[in-house]
Amino acid sequence: MDVSPILEPLNEAQREAVSAPPEPVLVLAGAGSGKTRVLVHRAAWLMQVENISPMGLIAVTFTNKAAWEMRARIEALLGLPTAQMWVGTFHGLAHRILRRHAAEADLDPQFQIIDAEDQLRLVRRVLKAMNLDESRYAPREVCWFINAQKDDGKRPAHVDTNGDENRSRFVQIYSAYEEACAQSALVDFGELLLRAHELWRDNTDLLEHYRRRFSHLLVDEFQDTNTIQYGWLRLLAGSTAVPFVVGDDDQSIYAWRGAQVGNLQRFTKDFPNHLLIKLERNYRSTPTILKAANAVIGHNTSRLGKNLWTEGADGEPIRLYSAFNERDESQFVVNRIRDWVAQGNRRDEAAVLYRSNAQSRVFEEAFLNAGIPYRVYGGLRFFDRAEIKDALAYLRLVFNRADDSSFERVINTPLRGIGARTMDIVRARARDDKTPLWHAAADLVASGDGLARRAASAVIGFIRLIDTMARAVEGLPLHEQVDHVVQNSGLIEHFKREGSEKSEARVENLEELVSAARGFDPETDEEDELPPLAAFLAHAALESGEAQGEAWEDCVQLMTLHSAKGLEFPLVFICGMEDGLFPHQRSAGSPEGIEEERRLCYVGMTRAMKQLYISHAEQRRLHGVDNYAVPSRFIGEIPSELIEEIRPHLQIRRPVAVSRPRVRPSAPSSGMRLGQRVRHTKFGEGLILNHEGQGAHARVQVNFERAGTKWLVLAYANLEEL
Ligand code: ATP
Ligand code: MG
Repeated sequence: MDVSPILEPLNEAQREAVSAPPEPVLVLAGAGSGKTRVLVHRAAWLMQVENISPMGLIAVTFTNKAAWEMRARIEALLGLPTAQMWVGTFHGLAHRILRRHAAEADLDPQFQIIDAEDQLRLVRRVLKAMNLDESRYAPREVCWFINAQKDDGKRPAHVDTNGDENRSRFVQIYSAYEEACAQSALVDFGELLLRAHELWRDNTDLLEHYRRRFSHLLVDEFQDTNTIQYGWLRLLAGSTAVPFVVGDDDQSIYAWRGAQVGNLQRFTKDFPNHLLIKLERNYRSTPTILKAANAVIGHNTSRLGKNLWTEGADGEPIRLYSAFNERDESQFVVNRIRDWVAQGNRRDEAAVLYRSNAQSRVFEEAFLNAGIPYRVYGGLRFFDRAEIKDALAYLRLVFNRADDSSFERVINTPLRGIGARTMDIVRARARDDKTPLWHAAADLVASGDGLARRAASAVIGFIRLIDTMARAVEGLPLHEQVDHVVQNSGLIEHFKREGSEKSEARVENLEELVSAARGFDPETDEEDELPPLAAFLAHAALESGEAQGEAWEDCVQLMTLHSAKGLEFPLVFICGMEDGLFPHQRSAGSPEGIEEERRLCYVGMTRAMKQLYISHAEQRRLHGVDNYAVPSRFIGEIPSELIEEIRPHLQIRRPVAVSRPRVRPSAPSSGMRLGQRVRHTKFGEGLILNHEGQGAHARVQVNFERAGTKWLVLAYANLEEL
C-alpha cells in the first residue's frame, strides 16, 4: 500500500499525529501550523491504513464551508468518494440526528429550525403573553439567557436561581418559551445541541448504535467547543471511540457564546492516555507577520504557551494606515486592492476583516463605487434578508401549519387587512385552547364569532391561500415548489407595486431564491431521506448563520474577525483598530474580556500570508453616531520595527479645528476641513487629507476616488463641498 501521498506532504510532528496508533490524540498548536491539514490527512490515513470504513468516521468542523472543503480534500487524497463519512458542524450533525430520531427526541417530525431573529420574535410573543414589560425584560437579554443555559446543558429545572427573584422570572420565561417552541414544533440553534445530547444520554440503545458505528471522532477548532458540545462528544466517544482533536488555546474566541477553553484540560483528564502533539512550524505567514502576531498574543497571561516559527525571507513590513474617518479608510483599502489586482493577483486573495458586522456597509459602498466585486461573509446574508425570510415563512407554513413564527410573520405580509386587534384575538384563542395560531384562526372563522366580518374574511382568504398552495406544490420538484409559493404568496406583486429601487432588488432576491432551490443539493447520504422542501428549509435556517461564497467567483472577501477563523489569505486588512471598537468596548471592562479580544486580534493577524495592513480612523460614524477614538492598544503591542506607517503621524495628528483659520475667509472653500468630502470638475469626488500654506497659497491634498491623491491650490481648484 502506498501511503506516501498521505505522509509526504507533512513534517515529522505532523506525520506522528497522522499515523498515530488508534488512541486519543490532542494536537495543540498555533495558527497556521497545519492542524486542519493534519486532521484531513488523519481521516485519509484511518480509511486507507487502518481500514476504517468512511461510515465509521465523524468529523466536526466549525463552518459548513470548512466541512465541504474537508470532504473534498479527503476525497482528493484517497481518490475515493466519502459520502458516507459524516462531516459537518456541531449544529448540522445534531440536526441530522434529530431528523432521524425525531420521535425518540420527542420532537414533531416536521420540526423547523429557527434562527436568531425568529427566536427574538418568539421571545417577544412569550413576554407579551406573560404580560411582562419588554423594558424590564429586554428580549435580547432573554434570548441570551436562554441560549447560555442551553449551551451549558441546562433545562429550566436545572437553573440555579439562588433565590434571586429576577432570575426566577427569567427561568419562567425560559419555560414558557420552551412550551411555545414545542407547540409550534420549532427548534432553535441551542436546542439542536441540547436535544441531541439528551437524546443520546437518555436512549442507551440509540447511543450504543452510534457508538458502534463511529469508531473515530475528529474535531477541528476544539478550543471553541462549549459545554454541551463537549458533553455530546464525550457521550459518543464512550470508552471505545477514538477522539482526534486539534486546537489552539490562543485562538479561543467564543467564550461569549459559552466556549470553554477548559475543555482542552478536560480532554487531557478524560483521556489520560492521550498522545499530545505540538506543531511549532508555521507554514502560512512571513516571519514578520508571525513575529508581530506572537508579540501581541505574548501580552496575554493565561496561555498554555508555545513557540511558533516560520522559515523564509522576512517579508514586507506590516503597514499601518491612520485614516481620518471610515470613508477614508475604506478608500485606502480599495486603492490598495486595486494595486494588488493590477499586479496580476486575484481579488479573492484579499480579505478585509473587521470587528463588527456593521462596519461592512462602508466597505461595500466603496467596493461598489469602485466596481470591484466583493462578497460579505456574515452580516446580512442572503437568507437573512427580509423578503427571503418572508418567502421562507410561506414555505414553512405550507410545509407545517403549526409553525407559529411563520404564521405571525406573513399573516399580514403583504397587507391583507389583518390588524393587531385580530391577531390579539387569534393569539388569545391559541393560548386558551393551547393550539397553534393556525388552528385558532381556523376555529375562529369557522365558529363565526369573535372576529369582525371583514377581519374574518381576510383570515379565511389567508387560510385558503396557504391550503391551495400546499395542494398545488404537492409532487412538484423543489424549485417549482419554491417558485409557485413565491409567485402566489403575493410577495412579488407587492414589491413590484412598490416600484422603488429597493423593492426591485427584493424581487430579484426572491427570484434568486428560486435559483437557490434549483441549485440545492442536499448532502448526499443515501440514508437520509428528508423531503426536499424540508431539507431546503433546514439548509436555509442553518445557512443564514454563515454565508456561502460562490467559490468560483473572484471577489474580495469581507468578513468579521470571528468568521475568518481557520482561513488564510495572501493579503489581509484589519480595519477599525480603535479602542472601543477593537478591543470592543463591551469587553474592555475585564482582563478576561481584553484577553479574548487579543486572541481575536491574533486570529486576525495570523490569517495573513504575505501582506498585512492595519488601519484605524480618527473619526468614525457607526450606527449613526460619530466617535473619536484613539488607536487600539493592540497596535502598540506590535514591535515598531515591524511596522511601516503609510502616513506619518505628524500629519494625521493635526487637530481638525486648526484648518479653518488658515484658509482665506473669502476663499470659496472657506469651510474646508480635513476629512471633508469635495468634488472637483475634472477629478471627481474625494476626501481632503491634508493642507498647507495660507491665503492665496493655501493648498489642500485631496484623495480622489478615481484620480488618486493630488495637491491643489484652493483658490483655483473650485472645489465643491459635499
Ligand atoms: P489555523 O490555526 O489558522 O486553523 P492550522 O493550524 O489549521 O491553522 P492549516 O490551515 O492546516 O493550519 O495550514 C496552514 C497552511 O500551511 C496551509 O496553507 C497548509 O496547506 C500549509 N501547510 C501545513 N502543513 C504543511 C507542510 N507540512 N508543508 C507545506 N505546507 C503546509
Ligand atoms: Mg485550521
